[in-house]
Amino acid sequence: MYDFLLTPEERTLRDDVRRFVREEVSSEFLRKMDRDEIIYPREFVERLAEYNLRGIRFPRKYGGREMSWVAEVAATQEIGCLGMALGCAFVMPSIVGEALNTFGTDQQKERYLKPYLEGRLVAAEALTEPRGGSDFFGATTRAVLDGDHFVLNGQKRFVVGADGADFFLVYCRTNFEPDAHKYERISLLLVEKGPGVETEYHYGLLGCRGGGTGRLVFRDVKVPRENLIGELHGGALCFHQMMIPERLTSAAGCLGVWGALDLAVRYSNRRSAFGRLVRKFQAVNFLVADSITQLDAARGLTYMAARAVDEGYPNMRRIVSEAKRFATEGAWNVVNNAMQVMGGIGYTEVYPVERALRDVRLALIWTGTSQIMNLMIQHEYYDEILNQPYDRRHMEKDAMSPDESERCFTDEDMWKVHESKAGQ
Ligand SMILES: Cc1cc2nc3c(=O)[nH]c(=O)nc-3n(C[C@H](O)[C@H](O)[C@H](O)COP(=O)(O)OP(=O)(O)OC[C@H]3O[C@@H](n4cnc5c(N)ncnc54)[C@H](O)[C@@H]3O)c2cc1C
Repeated sequence: MYDFLLTPEERTLRDDVRRFVREEVSSEFLRKMDRDEIIYPREFVERLAEYNLRGIRFPRKYGGREMSWVAEVAATQEIGCLGMALGCAFVMPSIVGEALNTFGTDQQKERYLKPYLEGRLVAAEALTEPRGGSDFFGATTRAVLDGDHFVLNGQKRFVVGADGADFFLVYCRTNFEPDAHKYERISLLLVEKGPGVETEYHYGLLGCRGGGTGRLVFRDVKVPRENLIGELHGGALCFHQMMIPERLTSAAGCLGVWGALDLAVRYSNRRSAFGRLVRKFQAVNFLVADSITQLDAARGLTYMAARAVDEGYPNMRRIVSEAKRFATEGAWNVVNNAMQVMGGIGYTEVYPVERALRDVRLALIWTGTSQIMNLMIQHEYYDEILNQPYDRRHMEKDAMSPDESERCFTDEDMWKVHESKAGQ
């Protein structure tokens, strides 16, 4: 479906990943994760590495495939059917790898990126703090430079893979000048699991279980200075870059809810009520119509965003945020509708729709909430429009009103128009 959006190479990758999903991940494995009987899906990560699926966009010399962002979206959409926890394990190399590949030194890439993409190391990202996640630049985790190392103290919350990871990308405050600009306060450190790094708490989650989500505590952790990623106090740049794959893959993973919709459609074509197939009731089949429309619109926006990043389009951050918000909210509606179409059985664990519903709710919160996406979108769009010279041809001037004073925004402007007319 929608093969015209993909090149032949991207299509082959998508088909390989679809086969991987079908053949390599058992239902029992998913159920065990959902029952929290698996703490971290390392086995899945190693399997991905065997199929060379951990570095789709990254250079071959570090174990990647050097493919496009669109290819990564196509692959993530397939993995998305497996739910949020495996989806997250799948996309984490895209996020962590982005920072290492863009800002890392050759030595850091050899030492961490390569074994990471080859599945020999596992990583997690630690941004959110108990103090808050949306206000990212207010980070209070501190790293004080002391000769050839930093001393790291603080806490991070809700870190997927806190249990399971061999190293973490940790954003922390390094610039303590009281009037330092928020974009010049933070640095990105690569912190290996070791003395002083503790996972103190495992969360009981509504969904996304089995991904090792926990709280990290750093107590006087010595981090070598050479583990600084990018510039000292230059974490803002890394953050903005990492948010591209972070948000784009959130959107792409949510496209995986096609699986729930597909199931609901088939179910409604077999289930009867009042002597008719339930699909014959308009109240049911309009839910399906609404769902597939939302899903297609989400696909369109997500693939457009991926193409925008591939092309280096200047407004890509706005489009990526739009895709994240639209696809995650759309996915929530789609799964909710799928459950409604299936009636009571959809609410039970007989079918995985209830798990999909619990999972997908998270997507509206993590990697920046819908509200934070809106903040970004409006900010970037206002900037874009207001920094362009106004071209009156865009709005037929006289069609609004022949009287110029009616187009004034303030009384003051209106008086100016009157006075200039009076002076004529
Ligand atoms: C299961 C799970 C896994 C996660 N994985 C990770 C991970 O691996 N690494 C990581 O670093 N983080 C992770 N997160 C954290 C996630 O990114 C944050 O929860 C999210 O960014 C929101 O931060 P918060 O929970 O502190 O909410 P808050 O920032 O406290 O926000 C609370 C509410 O206020 C709203 N709000 C806040 N500021 C504004 C504003 N300026 N304008 C409008 N509304 C606003 C928010 O939208 C939200 O509705 C995970 C979270 C969960 C639940």
